[in-house]
Amino acid sequence: MLTLFTINTCKSFGCRNLGLPISASADYNWPDFRLGFPALHCRACGSYPPLFDEQQFNEWLSVYLRTYASENGHFCPECFCQKTICYGHNPRGTQRVQCRMCRKVWTPKQQKPGKIVLPERIETVALIVPFQGNSTEQKLYVLLSFDAVRGNVLHVSTNFTQHDMGETLRYRWRGIAEPDLLHSDIVQRVDMREAQFLHRSQFDEIQYGSAVLKRNAKGAMLRPVIAAHGHFRVLNILFPEVRIHIISHESFLRGAVITVWADLFRQREGELWFIEEEINDSNIYLPWEFQRTTQHGWWQGQWQLWAQGKNRKMVCPLTGGDRGNAKTLSLTASRYFIHWLYQQPKFTHSTQLSAGRVTQILLSLAQDYNDELITAPSGY
Ligand SMILES: [Zn+2]
Ligand SMILES: [Zn+2]
Repeated sequence: MLTLFTINTCKSFGCRNLGLPISASADYNWPDFRLGFPALHCRACGSYPPLFDEQQFNEWLSVYLRTYASENGHFCPECFCQKTICYGHNPRGTQRVQCRMCRKVWTPKQQKPGKIVLPERIETVALIVPFQGNSTEQKLYVLLSFDAVRGNVLHVSTNFTQHDMGETLRYRWRGIAEPDLLHSDIVQRVDMREAQFLHRSQFDEIQYGSAVLKRNAKGAMLRPVIAAHGHFRVLNILFPEVRIHIISHESFLRGAVITVWADLFRQREGELWFIEEEINDSNIYLPWEFQRTTQHGWWQGQWQLWAQGKNRKMVCPLTGGDRGNAKTLSLTASRYFIHWLYQQPKFTHSTQLSAGRVTQILLSLAQDYNDELITAPSGY
């Protein structure tokens, strides 16, 4: 079986099995059906993470990574090693790249200037975007990651995939969406989100809306949890040493980050934070002030409430870490980008475009946004 990348693993912070594949620990028992779905039981911490079809996941992920690498040239499309050197030019003058590990030579489709700068903190949020499928207003699940300090986009992915994949990875809409919580009070919202996770058929099985492609369209829609594991795997290959991760409040984003950077979290060298924000005035420059700590959800997460004039934020450390960081953490980079995105006509017409086309537009707009940041850093 092809198991390059672990997805079936204990995902509990503090457990000795965190990030270890099934073959690496005697504490696992599987499949376990106690929760009504096939799960991996970790006897060391008592958790029951849902089981995935590891082979189907690995097959899809390998193709996804290979495609990303051959387009961008940031790592090797064969062995995923990041150590590459410039290796002359092909007859049309485009730069070729060679892997220093396996010696593979390839010509990246995008010829980007320079290397990506190592971020200190990675901030990731989800966004739901309409597309034209078998009827209007089908929905795409988008993941956006940023350098939280510099503000540039690091990676964009959607749950549309152009690659073949196994049936267990496919998103299936059952007709009932989780209610939108945007209008409730921030503290209540955290509580209600946690309740939503528990109401799911499994914690990672979000029902975010209908997503049926056009008849005869190529490609397929992935379960968002699968898209998230692919998304963070790319970031992990690019930035294995980034220690601080900020995510919006979604249980499977937590699972994907902790799995992908498991070595760091097992050694207690990483920090993973949930953040919720309620920004009513983005021109306030007062310092954030700590209000109180409350516990929420099944896992009794310790959420800190902070205030800054009319603005409020809730911050939850998921893996310990420096509590002093809470004051400075935010979802600012994603907020700025999303605000900018909704001013781009190419993007706001997405309701008339296919899922594949919307994905391409998001990628090209992210590139435009990064270029604008480089040319006008003071305007940010
Ligand atoms: Zn465990
Ligand atoms: Zn290689």
